[in-house]
Amino acid sequence: MDTHIQSLGPCLFPTPLHHIGSVEAPFKDDEDRILFRHETSTSQLEEEEESSPVSFEVAGPRERLYFDPSRTTVGIVTCGGLCPGLNDIIRGIVNQCHNQYGINKVYGFRYGYEGMVQRYGHTPFVLRPASVAQAHHFGGTFLGSSRGQQDVGDMVDTLEDMGVDILFVIGGDGSLRGASQITKEIERRGLKKAVVGIPKTIDNDIMFLDKSFGFETAFAAAVQAVTCAYVESTGAVNGVGLVKLMGRDSGFIACYAALAGSNVDFVLIPEVPFDLEGPRGFLEALRYRLVRRGSVVVVVAEGAGQELMGGGMGVDASGNPRYGDVGLFLKDRINGFFKERRMEVNVKYIDPSYIVRSVPANAQDNVYCSRLAQSAVHAAVAGKTGMLVGRWHGSFVHLPLDMVTHGRRKVDPKKELWHSVLESTGQPPNLR
Ligand code: ATP
Ligand code: MG
Repeated sequence: MDTHIQSLGPCLFPTPLHHIGSVEAPFKDDEDRILFRHETSTSQLEEEEESSPVSFEVAGPRERLYFDPSRTTVGIVTCGGLCPGLNDIIRGIVNQCHNQYGINKVYGFRYGYEGMVQRYGHTPFVLRPASVAQAHHFGGTFLGSSRGQQDVGDMVDTLEDMGVDILFVIGGDGSLRGASQITKEIERRGLKKAVVGIPKTIDNDIMFLDKSFGFETAFAAAVQAVTCAYVESTGAVNGVGLVKLMGRDSGFIACYAALAGSNVDFVLIPEVPFDLEGPRGFLEALRYRLVRRGSVVVVVAEGAGQELMGGGMGVDASGNPRYGDVGLFLKDRINGFFKERRMEVNVKYIDPSYIVRSVPANAQDNVYCSRLAQSAVHAAVAGKTGMLVGRWHGSFVHLPLDMVTHGRRKVDPKKELWHSVLESTGQPPNLR
């Protein structure tokens, strides 16, 4: 695992950050590391004594900078789907650039990577602390976002034309792959521009991150939907509260929302396949629970059970597969199953998708986003590039872009989180 962070060159400029008030800034250098693994065994430790353990560079202010802040121009772009905290990150970057480093030229590209392609005609915003002061009170991204492939050459042309030295990309796996291509094109042209990513994923599915920003806000909003589903289910004869939550490939939101409320009877996630029919299938288990309890709550992640629907829904503008609506599918199948058995059932289906992703970040995420933004600016002014900031074992770290976009973090059906879900719901571990 290559955790080395690319650098544009030697850092020759002293930082303006020496003191914040009377407190000396907590400078870090590249020798400060966070270990990849904190769980270990004695045999592993003995093995590792011979080789050096994998570790990540620690984020934070550097004593010397690659860029001269008074002559530095910054660009910010947000891409992909909405997620709580996007505005917080933009605001954090703008404030950190202006107030701490004295970087006065900060542009916000409009509508994702589209805004970096001049023929679309989206004029970038000029961003100042006053223009972002209230941004964190609102969900979404005030810069706008988009999907769809853009030409990397066009985007780097724009960075050259505008004299942008540092580009911050706030986005998901697709955006970070785009950021990696931009970094390579910059390098190919022999330019000295830093590209730093701030990973966005409402599903908490990016590798090598403790958690992603917005996740806590999102699952807190999801919990409200689950609570409503419970209330609805108990208010009708044989009520089934069915909630579809985000989670295309990873079921973290579904798992956490279920654990938070503990009135959930079934959690269905993409990582754990299930059958509908048959004596051990989901519908029979649902019937059994309904007969015993009189009401049932089911939480399903949007990517669960796709294979049961036959797939083949095509792809979106960015090339991501489109998924069938598993919530509506389950609603139909549950109704059909009980109709055949002449048993009354009242399915209350709740799909809170946009309510979960477009709410403003909560206080916990406000803090997390501010610290990510600060870390991103510290890294970029020190000339670090082709990287993103994240948190690992509670510390903010630098990670190479390419390492993180190799795969996805998933709920491991053999590990503690899924076990906790099974304990909390009491659902059969195997619905097939
Ligand atoms: P999310 O999926 O969480 O909403 P995302 O960043 O993955 O966020 P996408 O729509 O997949 O969202 O991608 C955002 C932008 O990144 C789009 O403009 C897309 O064209 C670009 N992009 C996606 N995949 C790649 C890739 N492999 N290489 C270069 N650019 C990419
Ligand atoms: Mg994506």
